Formats: sequence, structure tokens, C-alpha cells
Amino acid sequence: MDDCIFCKIVEGKIPATKIYEDDKVISFLDIMPANKGHCLIVPKNHSPTLVEMHEEDLTATVKAVKKIARALSLSFGNASFNMVMNNGKEAGQIVNHAHIHLIPRFQKDRLRLKWSHLKYEGEEMNDYAGRIKKFIE
Ligand code: 5GP
Ligand code: ZN
Repeated sequence: MDDCIFCKIVEGKIPATKIYEDDKVISFLDIMPANKGHCLIVPKNHSPTLVEMHEEDLTATVKAVKKIARALSLSFGNASFNMVMNNGKEAGQIVNHAHIHLIPRFQKDRLRLKWSHLKYEGEEMNDYAGRIKKFIE
């Protein structure tokens, strides 16, 4: 994609602090990290979100996530990390090339990824489950 910043990184047209690369995936440090060591894992093929990704890109991306998560844990002596994927504008996605964030977590860091909890009323929970299940292939 011509106008995509991550495609440009994949093609080597703009620089990035790369930590991993294979034939399907590239990973580099986020330029504005939530914590230092925050990595982005990016399939080389352009897809806007998870939903459009090909199975083989998805598999390769998740495998790279595991490899890098392990490396994060070992390099910072800390097994905690958040794996985040923003899909779509309302979910906070800014770069429209599917990618996964891996954010190392440290004792007493100031990062907050918590949400407040809602409550279902009456049959609502079953209704929501039914609406979703109808479209699962
Ligand atoms: P999103 O909200 O789309 O899931 O997150 C996109 C992430 O990409 C942001 O955390 C942002 O800091 C990072 N980012 C955007 N442009 C660049 C760039 O040119 N280089 C790097 N390394 N990270 C970028
Ligand atoms: Zn792209």
C-alpha cells in the first residue's frame, strides 16, 4: 500500500529499530512506547485489521509474538507483558496495517490498561451470545 507507514518500513523506505524479521513478519520498537521495550509485530502483507489477514500471515505473526514475548521476558528479567491489538478506529487503531503490540510490564509501572465493568440485564447476555454465534462460520 502506497500510503502505509508500516508497508514503507517493511520495504525499508523508512527506518525502524528492527528486532526480528522473517519472510512473513517484521518486528521493531514502537517509536512512542507505552513502556520502554514496547514492540510492534507486523505481518509484511498489508491487511487493514485482523479480520482480513490470511491464515498463514496470522500463524506467522502469532509465532513471532511468542518468540518476541519470550525474548522480552528474558531480556528484562520479567515475565509480564500485555499483548494488545487495536482493530478499527473505535478500538484506537491509528496505523491501518494490522499489527500486534507487545508491552513489557514492570513492578509499579504507571501503565493502566484497565476498563470499568458493565452489567448485563435480564436476557441480554444470552441475546448478545446469540447475535455473535449466528455469524461464526
Ligand atoms: P495503533 O494505535 O494503530 O495500534 O498503534 C500504532 C503504533 O505505531 C503507535 O503506538 C505508534 O507509536 C506506532 N508508530 C506510528 N508510526 C510509527 C513509525 O513510523 N515508527 C515506529 N517505530 N512506530 C510507529
Ligand atoms: Zn501497510
